[in-house]
Amino acid sequence: GAAEAAKAEILDKRRRHVGPNLALFFQDEPLHIVEGRGAELFDAQGTPYLDCINNVSHVGHCHPRVAAAVAAQLTRLNTNSRYLHAGLGDYAAELAALLPAPLEVVYMTVSGSEANDLAWRVAAAVARRADPGDARPLHVACVDHAYHGHTSFCIEISPYKFKGPGGGGRLAHVHVLPCPDVYRGQNLDGRAAARAAIATAEASGGRLAAFFSESILSCGGQVILPEGYLAGLYAEMRAAGAVCVADEVQCGFGRVGRAFWAFELQGVVPDIVTFGKPCGNGFPMAGLVTTRAVADGFASGGMEFFATFGGCTAAPACGLAVLDVIREERLQQNAAAVGAHCLARLRALQAQHPSHIGDVRGEGLMVGIEVVTDRDPAPALAAALKLHAKRAHRVLLSTEGPYSSVLKIKPPMCFSIAQADQMVAALADGLAALEASPTHKAALLERNAAEVAAVRERHARLG
Ligand code: PMP
Repeated sequence: GAAEAAKAEILDKRRRHVGPNLALFFQDEPLHIVEGRGAELFDAQGTPYLDCINNVSHVGHCHPRVAAAVAAQLTRLNTNSRYLHAGLGDYAAELAALLPAPLEVVYMTVSGSEANDLAWRVAAAVARRADPGDARPLHVACVDHAYHGHTSFCIEISPYKFKGPGGGGRLAHVHVLPCPDVYRGQNLDGRAAARAAIATAEASGGRLAAFFSESILSCGGQVILPEGYLAGLYAEMRAAGAVCVADEVQCGFGRVGRAFWAFELQGVVPDIVTFGKPCGNGFPMAGLVTTRAVADGFASGGMEFFATFGGCTAAPACGLAVLDVIREERLQQNAAAVGAHCLARLRALQAQHPSHIGDVRGEGLMVGIEVVTDRDPAPALAAALKLHAKRAHRVLLSTEGPYSSVLKIKPPMCFSIAQADQMVAALADGLAALEASPTHKAALLERNAAEVAAVRERHARLG
């Protein structure tokens, strides 16, 4: 019909004029979404889809209060941060109030990538200033399978990319800590991992200037760090002179329910916190928060910091509205309650399908389901469940983790109990359909083994 023709035309234009390696969700049957509200998306025919994965539309798609705040600012003034305007200081002060001391100085950027890139410049400046006589090159550490952004530096510290399809491999100044795997009981000691990275950095003639990590590993597969993991790790890193950067681009702003920032669950205070995605509810804004001492170290070189759109007048207007909505709609509390409900329902499902749901883990509305076969990653099975949820239930899920075998649930924070039940029902039905079709299931299991072997080969070659 007409809708299919319109979709084909959009796809055709995209194929001809948009970068070919820009990915689409559901590559073979992409969705044409035209509207969003709360945790729901609507296609061109008005068909609703339940969005279980968009952690950017943090307070709900197109939240009217946020949209109105941005629109009002755009119709009055939107310029760079070089004129006095109350919003920037107000937003920075509100962020500082939400963070533990001594984190209190804010730099605004446009994307999470830029925030992490800037964090590296800050860390490098601090390292050089701390010991100007030390001529060793500056090295950096990160956690395996992490993604920190798309700038050149961020790709260098994103094993998810440099060991992924088309990846160029690890560079010599980058040291990768193994990803803790609580489910399989591997690499649980943060202190030991830090010591090993520091030792390899020093053995190769460098000094570590920074350690980057998310406080819950999202691309790594929704990995909840073992208790005390970052505390020991940070202590070792700091003793070696490295600045500790917490990437809260995905897990910040109340998503984890029990805390406003995920690093708080680990009982640590980072030297730099980078943030992005959720802070603007879809408006492009991001940044970092650091201590007065670190900021002064960065500034002392004399170079100005300026980003045309970082902290532009509309950004703090948007960011302040997002913070208001989080508070007024008690979205952090909702994340805790609905997240706990998801975990309980999913664990009940796991008890019914123990051979294919290996692990259910999460904090608040940051939940992962590890799809397995005999405890081995089962990417083909995970992909089939995702596709079934979309086709039969219009529930949008996604996969991540080193083998793309972890189903992720990171919906807008207004996700309701009823919507959580809808998501669980889609998965339950998908698992039941699988069990009812042994030949389909056998074919998927065969594909799992091939996909896992291919990933392992690539990781061994590029790590
Ligand atoms: N850090 C993390 C943890 C992310 O998930 C992302 C984006 N997926 C980034 C950084 C980069 O953010 P952006 O895409 O806004 O540059």
